[in-house]
Amino acid sequence: MARGTGIRVLTGIFAVGLTFCGAATPAGAAEKLRVLIIDGQNNHTWKNMTPPMKADLERSGRFDVTVATTPPAKSPKEAWDSFHPDFSKYDVVLSNYNGEAWPKRVQKALEEYVAGGGGLAIIHAANNAFEGWPEYNKMIGLGWRKPSFGDRLTIDDAGRVVRTPKGEGPGSGHGPTHPFTIKVRKPDHPITKGMPAEWLHAKDELYHGQRGPAENMEILATAYSDKEHKGTETNEPMIWVIPYGKGRVFTTVMGHVMGDDDVAIECPGFRTVLLRGTEWAATGDVTIPIPDDFPKSGK
Ligand code: ZN
Repeated sequence: MARGTGIRVLTGIFAVGLTFCGAATPAGAAEKLRVLIIDGQNNHTWKNMTPPMKADLERSGRFDVTVATTPPAKSPKEAWDSFHPDFSKYDVVLSNYNGEAWPKRVQKALEEYVAGGGGLAIIHAANNAFEGWPEYNKMIGLGWRKPSFGDRLTIDDAGRVVRTPKGEGPGSGHGPTHPFTIKVRKPDHPITKGMPAEWLHAKDELYHGQRGPAENMEILATAYSDKEHKGTETNEPMIWVIPYGKGRVFTTVMGHVMGDDDVAIECPGFRTVLLRGTEWAATGDVTIPIPDDFPKSGK
């Protein structure tokens, strides 16, 4: 009994101390969103990608970021036994992972987490991953797949969404990296609200022919895939969102990093999309402003 009382007294003192500490921290710090970045395998230089994305997220003042790194490729099964991220501790999971299938229990845990209201952010080649995981394909809508895998969505010159059935048209690919114009298609969505209608993205891969179930997809921005860069001569989705149960999934296929070439993720346009997309996935709303150095029209 006496011991319990002592703990209560100590807790009270600690709480008072926290109050004073709180006064010295930035406004809103108590409401920081918890992000879990997952990396560890990728056909890109993920070790040069996670730290700058983590730094950008933290610098915004909106996020606390934790990184979970999977075992490397071809690890024995026992190595995966220690990979069991507790998604429930986070407001949003950000995937910088494109590699071997996760254990079924981790797949199930992510499905339950997002369906229960969690956020998921998919960056660049993270949408190449997990072709054999049906619920993941539903969450990302479109992935780097063959034409026979699923439908394709593009946007025509009149701004209408065009669904190309599976088996027809090109599969996933990209031409040589180059700067390209991002065209905002949903200017009232929290992620894109306030962005210029068109803005010039830094040199990056322009993904085309992404395939999947493409259900409930809202395409927020596209880029014209031109013939000069071995493209498809149509408007390919660059940023999109999908509801999954009570949760939200945000995808951008921008963000190619290979070796020291990180021009794409250094682009203030990409960085803003990363922050705002991640915040939206976590909360369904965006408070992070469009910065002054956001790119202007590509024309
Ligand atoms: Zn790439």
